[in-house]
Amino acid sequence: ATTRTPLMAGNWKMNLDHLQATHLVQKLDWTLRDARHDPADVEVVVLPPFTDLRSVQTLVQGDQLFLRYGGQDLSPHDEGAYTGDISGAFLAKLGCTYVAVGHSERREGHQESDELVGAKVRAALRHDLVPILCVGEPLEVRRSGDHVEHVVTQLRAALDGLDAGQVSRVVVAYEPVWAIGTGEVATPDDAQEVCAAIRAAVAELADDATAAAVRVLYGGSVKPGNVAELMQRPDVDGALVGGASLSVEDFASICRYR
Ligand code: PEP
Repeated sequence: ATTRTPLMAGNWKMNLDHLQATHLVQKLDWTLRDARHDPADVEVVVLPPFTDLRSVQTLVQGDQLFLRYGGQDLSPHDEGAYTGDISGAFLAKLGCTYVAVGHSERREGHQESDELVGAKVRAALRHDLVPILCVGEPLEVRRSGDHVEHVVTQLRAALDGLDAGQVSRVVVAYEPVWAIGTGEVATPDDAQEVCAAIRAAVAELADDATAAAVRVLYGGSVKPGNVAELMQRPDVDGALVGGASLSVEDFASICRYR
């Protein structure tokens, strides 16, 4: 894990308009600077709603903030008659580095299939965006004990057919559905078990060097009080943070977990 730069990504979901986004991003930057945060130690990313991205871009590029940012979703298509959808080309033009793909709230609320999630991963890569590919099992699958198989199947479906160079550009986020927004965090051992299985599956899909380089995040009720122990596990390279990323104090302290 020593060669992989830890990554903390804040998924704001459908929270904060562009004025609130400006406020949070400025305050987060000041807080991390005050703490002498070095982005080479831990990379910090925010994923605001689409309508905030232009304001975030202006701030980050204008004031040279070290935060990176991205979208919460993208279209599998590049342009055309897809009312309401957002192209990866538009996100790239706004200076996005990342884009979340296949978040469980999209898989469930918008019936996104593994096939569609795979097409979105490809769309992200076409536009030089780093997809944060979200995978994770619902509670009934966890109870049945088939969680590793479930997650690896989702991963294979999304990455199948990509070459090792493409796979190496992907970040994977293991987000057990039962832990998202519930306050119920997976134990560090649970997170490690699945993150290690994801890395092993990446080795099979690509090769050992790619598996060693790919960052695997844990997501699900990550808070300042539980992040350090999760980050001690060898295959957990960061966190995808929902609720706690809306508080500057909490998210900054998650980024400063060491
Ligand atoms: C998420 O939205 O990806 C998430 C993990 O949410 P929370 O941290 O609120 O559980």
